[in-house]
Amino acid sequence: MMESLHELISKLEQVALHPKSAALQSMKETGREAIGCFPIYTPDEIIYAAGYLPLGMWGGKTEIRLAGKYLPAFCCSIMRSNLEFGMNGTYDFLKAAVIPTFCDTLKCVCENWKVAIPQVPAIPIVYPQNRALEAAHVYLKQEFLRVKEEIEKLSGKKITGAAKPDAGYTCGGNVEINCGDMVLVITTPIKYHAPKAKFPPKHQLLIQFDDLSHISCTVQMWGCMYCMTTEEAAKPGSFYTERKPDPLTDEFDAAYFDLLWNAVKPNISVKAFLATEQRIPGLGNGVLQDILWNARIHPKKKLQDITGAEKEQLFHSVKTTLLAMREQGGRDTEKDLFGKNGGYKTVLSSKTIKNPCPACGDMITREAYLGGNIYYCFGCQKL
Ligand SMILES: [Zn+2]
Repeated sequence: MMESLHELISKLEQVALHPKSAALQSMKETGREAIGCFPIYTPDEIIYAAGYLPLGMWGGKTEIRLAGKYLPAFCCSIMRSNLEFGMNGTYDFLKAAVIPTFCDTLKCVCENWKVAIPQVPAIPIVYPQNRALEAAHVYLKQEFLRVKEEIEKLSGKKITGAAKPDAGYTCGGNVEINCGDMVLVITTPIKYHAPKAKFPPKHQLLIQFDDLSHISCTVQMWGCMYCMTTEEAAKPGSFYTERKPDPLTDEFDAAYFDLLWNAVKPNISVKAFLATEQRIPGLGNGVLQDILWNARIHPKKKLQDITGAEKEQLFHSVKTTLLAMREQGGRDTEKDLFGKNGGYKTVLSSKTIKNPCPACGDMITREAYLGGNIYYCFGCQKL
């Protein structure tokens, strides 16, 4: 035990004594180029997500020969030695240096760096000091976005998600999981199976983890799975045809809804408008039924027969119904990773077909229409 502790400390000691060779070793092991991070609070996550290695720049023991040209003797040793190492070429292996402006010296260093060490581009970042102001939050977000864009320019690649094995995010009907430099895109339900638990005999994808737990994917009705490099995935047309505004974002507003509305023929039905052609990411037949019931519009009603007030109601219902479904962990007709049903109680679904309409008590009807069952209430959703 003591030996391993000694080993550990001596490893750290070696890194502290030879930071450059430790950095070069990490770059070799990870296959990533490094971006320098001046103290303190540089956004390592953005650097990491861009595929670079964030490298702390804390100076080191050195004689100040060159840095005195820019920084007087009373500036702190970290800033003086960072500048010295920059000017004598020690930091030439860095792709860029992110420099915040926390103290008076840092405020100057950023400008000095641009002139003294032009071979390592400086990326400045300003952190607002007043955390209580709304404006400060807006400003900080913009600073992060600007740093992201500057790093994207360096790499020529867009940052779309955190490049960590455990980070995933959904994009419309897709779940995209980044694993190092590969992306796994899944559109089917995903199930988790604890170690030793049985998994379904029929599945299209089975991934085993080190602890012998699994996740399985099974195609139901339709679905696909892709595995590709992040570079391939970033190309337009790789697995999505076009990225469009998510209906739960502010970008998806009434004006955008109008644009979509005016781009289709007025004699198509509202189901065809909302739930086909991937016009609205994530809006499929499953969520459509309650959206239309909440707006009191029949799924077969043609756009040209929908009044201005009904259209407004429909837009509102798209936003609020989807939000309610998301906030309550999905619909009760769907299961999550652990096989648990969602908390959103569907008004119209196979689960409720035998119940009377909760609004008017009339019958709920189910029929096949445009590749999938539609559900509607005779009383509330008149054609
Ligand atoms: Zn009804």
